[in-house]
Amino acid sequence: MISHLSDQTYLDYAATTPLDPRVLEVMKPFFNEKFGNPSSVHRWGQQAEAAVENARDLLANFLNCSPTEIVFTSCGSESDNLALRGAAFAARQIRNANHILINPVEHHAVSFTAEQLAHVFGFELEYLPVNKHGQVTPESVRERLREDTAFVSVMYANNEIGSINPTQDIGLACKEKEIPFHTDAVQAAAHIEIDTKELNVDLMSLGAHKLYGPKGIGVLYVKQGTPLLSMQTGGGQENNLRAGTSNVAFIVGQAEAFRLAKIEQQENHDRLIPMRNEIISNVLKIIPDVQLTGHPEIRLPNHASFIFKGVDGNELLMMLDIAGFACSSGSACKTGNPEPSEVLNALGFSKEWGLGSLRVTIGKYTSEEDINRFLKILPKLISENRAMGKNK
Ligand SMILES: *Cc1c(COP(=O)(O)O)cnc(C)c1O
Repeated sequence: MISHLSDQTYLDYAATTPLDPRVLEVMKPFFNEKFGNPSSVHRWGQQAEAAVENARDLLANFLNCSPTEIVFTSCGSESDNLALRGAAFAARQIRNANHILINPVEHHAVSFTAEQLAHVFGFELEYLPVNKHGQVTPESVRERLREDTAFVSVMYANNEIGSINPTQDIGLACKEKEIPFHTDAVQAAAHIEIDTKELNVDLMSLGAHKLYGPKGIGVLYVKQGTPLLSMQTGGGQENNLRAGTSNVAFIVGQAEAFRLAKIEQQENHDRLIPMRNEIISNVLKIIPDVQLTGHPEIRLPNHASFIFKGVDGNELLMMLDIAGFACSSGSACKTGNPEPSEVLNALGFSKEWGLGSLRVTIGKYTSEEDINRFLKILPKLISENRAMGKNK
């Protein structure tokens, strides 16, 4: 099975997913016989251009938007970067707007870009409040919107703690004041149907590798008329918003990954939700001193995340790896001086809890037996980990 390295079990689908073999199949011809540059006039070019435009039409259809509103990028991170910088500089140039309003618990592709806009380029950065599940309310956005707000950015679903934001209503609050609204939907798109008209978004980031597509390809949805300065200049590709010869094979693969995700969404949910619930309820029941992070119900269907008091999260990941399970934690591994992730800090958890984070994310190749074996071994590893900490 794809997701197994011999006897290893992959439970880290929020980090990335294996490429669906059907996606690989549609990509293959564009690495050899259909190698043309879509910008060329001759038939090799025409063939490649047709493939790119067909992929664009497919995506536009899924997102309920016009093909001209789709910008292909190199990844979800690039989409976030283009959205934030492009919107910030355009808003400054056109209407002298200097205020940026963002969710404090974003992916680094958003949070670090916003921080750079503040520290290097002098934008005034304001963070929205979040509730204990890491969610933003439309009311708090409404209260803080100003005439000189350049843009608002709030992710659709949180990669680390799984919570889903009321994106449609946040979008509406921005729309009422005609302030551009960006959402990072890279994680959400794998599980939630996305209709750009219903969501009231002006800018939306997507990527392929969280939904069984290839790594290194993404989309930025740019609603018609949204002021945006290009960040990569050169050829006129992607509506003059992102120069560079199109990555044809990956663009084609991405569209196929989205097509399959949409068709198989319900079937995947029906399988994943009971398994996800089993993980959450068992861990909370069996292991002492544990808390679920993120919203208990309004969360991604494949996502379970916890913090354990007095546990070294990085060490736990290594113990799990040796035991045959690939999971992830919130905090990046910093040897010497480990810190809880920004997300857990923003939610107000103490270091004693925040350092013991664990994220278990399942996907279409996860089986019931995988979960059973995982739940059997986890309590043992947690008590070993806690005992090790006491002996240090
Ligand atoms: C994975 C992820 C990204 C980054 O996407 P890449 O394609 O890996 O650059 C951005 N935002 C969220 C929420 C993600 O989960």
